[in-house]
Amino acid sequence: MSDASFDYDVIVIGAGYGGFDAAKHAADHGLKTAIIESRDMGGTCVNRGCVPSKALLAASGKVRELADDSHLASFGIHAAPVRFERQKIADHANQLVQTIRTNLTKTLERAGVTILRGHGRLEGAQRVGLREPSGVDRVLNAKDVIIATGSDPFVPPGIETDGRTVFTSDEAINLEWLPRWIAIIGSGYIGLEFADVYTALGCEVTMIEAMDKVMPTFDPDIAKIAGRHLIDSRDIDARSGLLARKVTPGCPVQIELADFNSRELVETLEVDAVLVATGRVPSSKGLNLESLGIETNRGFLPIDDTMRVLVNDQPVPHLWAVGDVTGKLMLAHTAAAQGSVAVDNILGHQRQIDYRSIPAATFTHPEISSVGLSEADAKTLASEQGFQLGSVRSYFKANSKALAELESDGLMKLLFNKTSGEVLGAHIYGLHAADLIQEVANAVARRQSVRQLSTEVHTHPTLSEVVEVAYKQAASQLVA
Ligand SMILES: Cc1cc2nc3c(=O)[nH]c(=O)nc-3n(C[C@H](O)[C@H](O)[C@H](O)COP(=O)(O)OP(=O)(O)OC[C@H]3O[C@@H](n4cnc5c(N)ncnc54)[C@H](O)[C@@H]3O)c2cc1C
Repeated sequence: MSDASFDYDVIVIGAGYGGFDAAKHAADHGLKTAIIESRDMGGTCVNRGCVPSKALLAASGKVRELADDSHLASFGIHAAPVRFERQKIADHANQLVQTIRTNLTKTLERAGVTILRGHGRLEGAQRVGLREPSGVDRVLNAKDVIIATGSDPFVPPGIETDGRTVFTSDEAINLEWLPRWIAIIGSGYIGLEFADVYTALGCEVTMIEAMDKVMPTFDPDIAKIAGRHLIDSRDIDARSGLLARKVTPGCPVQIELADFNSRELVETLEVDAVLVATGRVPSSKGLNLESLGIETNRGFLPIDDTMRVLVNDQPVPHLWAVGDVTGKLMLAHTAAAQGSVAVDNILGHQRQIDYRSIPAATFTHPEISSVGLSEADAKTLASEQGFQLGSVRSYFKANSKALAELESDGLMKLLFNKTSGEVLGAHIYGLHAADLIQEVANAVARRQSVRQLSTEVHTHPTLSEVVEVAYKQAASQLVA
């Protein structure tokens, strides 16, 4: 039931995946809802992230497959030399963005959400300022306010971008040209996905990683096998322990590489282009957080597990934050899940988020995925709680479907509690790893035991049997 003393029951600031889910969920439950967007409906994911990057990966993945003569010859297939049109690949991504953006906007309108264009900010408790594109400024009040302002690419100091020769993922998704030689700074999931696209389309890649080894955020065993296939076997020169301390746009682009520890100059590279993929920073500037005394953690908004914004560890009444701006597992489905948790709590249905069961995927060819605890965190938990940690590996080379596809490079690592059998985490590299992880994510969400999971029947022959084998091995190792 709406409260007539407010303009809206809920105002959401930011129409990315987090804001979209929150606004739709609120309107679907009868709350009078408005959403404020200063840029493009759909935010990063739809316009500059998941959607266009997956379109580029889909197209370039097909080029890679058709260009792999020896792989095709193993099936007895001989294709003509593969040709592609860069502009058509870029158009495919762009058209997909437009379709999904339109669908998302219509979905909100159909749900009854009021879409307000402009820049939103807080104006004290239960009040939101709106600066419209025309310059008109007004203040609205709402029973509850949800901040969902997302994030932007992080460009480290010393790196100058011009959007054409030195750029971030925001520009890379337009695929405006194909540099002969591109340096990618960062070997996280965004750097890896673009390296996959560029190498498939014939570019030479130098990957620069500041940490002492590439793919530092991945499970070390998965990084080893994935790195062998996704980096070492391709036209990629991976350099770790090096800091790109100065990057100057131009033709060529100049990169000063320094030793990460000593900061001493090691080498100067001259390349055609540079993609800066060094992480993302929260979009929380200009929100007038001071009006409610909110202090951020390096720009990230502090929240509890119900999505309430915290000041001095205490929730601010009627103020919520979701998505990348909160800095928790910065992924589209996390933002969406947080959005619906916030609204459930607004509706009075107490609910907390379970970050442990949220999966993550890198859409390279093949893919990488994970859910739950890292091995290091699982070891810490095991010693704190006094249980024995189990770890088993299941290989794609023992899987009939992977063998039939001649795609048997792959590994799944499953972490579990050897006494209770509870699944604690999984890390996968291999064909369709992003789909395979969902089954384990569901098990983690239900805190299920491999004792039960190992009895569940999997379709033969499917890649899901890689997971079944892991569950069975784990069940055979349970103690007592
Ligand atoms: C290249 C790339 C690939 C990615 N691939 C994946 C993937 O495959 N899977 C996945 O799960 N995630 C992926 N992500 C991450 C995903 O895009 C983000 O986690 C997700 O978009 C976060 O959603 P959000 O709603 O928190 O914020 P955003 O999507 O960033 O949306 C925030 C919105 O708020 C608006 N805004 C900001 N400030 C204001 C203001 N003051 N007033 C009004 N509006 C404002 C912004 O304009 C923006 O539209 C990818 C990201 C990138 C960059």
